[in-house]
Amino acid sequence: MAKYTEAKCRLCRREGCKLFLKGDRCFTEKCALQRRPYAPGQHGRARKKISEYAVQLREKQKTKRAYGVLERQFHGYFEKAEMRRGVTGFNLLEILERRLDNVVFKLGFATSRDQARQMIRHGLFTLNGNKVNIPSIQVKVGDVVEVPEKNRKIPVLAQAADTIARRGSPAWLESDGAAFKGVVKALPQRDDIQFPVNEQLIVELYSK
Ligand code: SF4
Repeated sequence: MAKYTEAKCRLCRREGCKLFLKGDRCFTEKCALQRRPYAPGQHGRARKKISEYAVQLREKQKTKRAYGVLERQFHGYFEKAEMRRGVTGFNLLEILERRLDNVVFKLGFATSRDQARQMIRHGLFTLNGNKVNIPSIQVKVGDVVEVPEKNRKIPVLAQAADTIARRGSPAWLESDGAAFKGVVKALPQRDDIQFPVNEQLIVELYSK
């Protein structure tokens, strides 16, 4: 399985925004972007003239990296988003948000999407009562994500109630840390997606 191997904090510094790739550290003052809020490398602080194409490309890269999706899959999501009714940019974000790994992360059962992906692959969750090990599954309204009894002592899961209390969960999800359970109450709306992205730029990039 292909994956990003570049140092995670460098990715945030390159994109100039928090991508929340390193778990709890991202929520503390140890965050590298807070300490060094400029691009990595020798010329990181240099002022550069950025072309329109570069702006669009960065927006796509930022989104792809935040959700931990590789180029081919991301492009596939864009094609799906284009085929659906409605605004393509929002459709794309909705598809990304509805990935099971994102939902597990947002429910507070993992400290990052990366960790959520790994936990799902190890079969630590059930979806509507059935064991699941595919992080890219799209959740739908009414779906229930649960941690089976035997997995509840795993430290990161045992702390889920604290994580949820600290981070909260978006309006479209309902998280119950004590019951090790989360419910998809509705589909995500644009306001629920706090990640700073201008999805229109991604649409323009792929429409060239
Ligand atoms: Fe990004 Fe987290 Fe590293 Fe901060 S700590 S730069 S948010 S990966």
